[in-house]
Amino acid sequence: MTDNLSTIDEIKDLHRFLTIIQNINVGIIVLDKQFRVHVWNSFMEVNSGIMGGKLNGKCILDFFPELSNSWFKDKVLGTFALEATIFSPWEQHTEIFHFANNRPFTGTSKEMYQNYTFIPINTLNGTCEEICVIIYDVTDAACSKINLQAANERLHQMSITDGLTSLYNRKHWQECLNQQFKLHMRNHADVSLMMFDIDHFKNVNDTYGHPAGDAVLKAVSATLKKQIRSTDIAGRYGGEEFAIILIDANKEAAYMVAERLRNAVAALVVDYEDLQIKFNISIGICTLNQDIESADKWLQNTDNSLYFSKEHGRNRSTLFSVNDTEETMNVHIPKPASSKR
Ligand code: GH3
Ligand code: MG
Ligand code: MG
Repeated sequence: MTDNLSTIDEIKDLHRFLTIIQNINVGIIVLDKQFRVHVWNSFMEVNSGIMGGKLNGKCILDFFPELSNSWFKDKVLGTFALEATIFSPWEQHTEIFHFANNRPFTGTSKEMYQNYTFIPINTLNGTCEEICVIIYDVTDAACSKINLQAANERLHQMSITDGLTSLYNRKHWQECLNQQFKLHMRNHADVSLMMFDIDHFKNVNDTYGHPAGDAVLKAVSATLKKQIRSTDIAGRYGGEEFAIILIDANKEAAYMVAERLRNAVAALVVDYEDLQIKFNISIGICTLNQDIESADKWLQNTDNSLYFSKEHGRNRSTLFSVNDTEETMNVHIPKPASSKR
């Protein structure tokens, strides 16, 4: 009689646990060392569309071949080998059970993000013959984190970008300049600085209006981007002044880039409403060397060269050299500069 009662209690206990396992909102699987399924709860049935009866005693990898060569298999084997609980968050894996997101309309992801815990199950004599895999639906938390990271990235991009031209803003560009200066002092690699300013830009604004001036600034930056390498660092230094760090460019290369840019701008016609606007730029260049003691000095030398271009007819490029006097700085003598258009 007592035996019967204790058996009934055990059955009650079992029933209680089975009810919990079936209804809990996490996936529960029990696997043996041959990857055969012994428990597959209703969370797994609902999300996979495969009933437990069909899987019972069968190898899970036959039903989900995508798991065969994945971290999942390694974690199962690892749990058997270590006989320790292993946790694996959603960021660490992509080969998972591909379940649909339970909230396809309000959620931002089509697929369910999952965390996994692998738990060894020891038999009464202490050997580990089976493991339990618990699968958590963490789609909401994962999407929030992904959206937050994307928003932070957008904010970061906005904080370093000039809104009109999409080039770096002055603050970020200046940080890049300081960094490139320090790098050169270590590695002595070729690097040049180029600054340019639109000639008589005030006339553009005064003649055609400020919005037309903005269109010119956009067109200049688009032309600039086409003329430099993706590794070069271009920024809007001031209103109509631009500064570019030319990576891996010695004097000759930098001068060539400057002239190519100057000619490309000179050939540019900006169509704004029914206006055709033409204009030129003046350029200063300074190639960095170990004698230039600071990033500020590098910038100042470049600005001096730009000033020289302005003072000597505009629509020209000037390369800075330490021993240059005003006369010898005049490395490029353009055809008569037609800066007023
Ligand atoms: P220079 O050949 O000596 O460089 O003459 P400049 O007329 O280009 O130089 P100045 O410094 O006198 O004028 C620069 C003008 O750039 C004045 C300013 O109103 C204009 N400017 C600055 N920022 C912007 C902007 O974002 N949009 C527009 N449309 N104009 C701007
Ligand atoms: Mg200016
Ligand atoms: Mg100007």
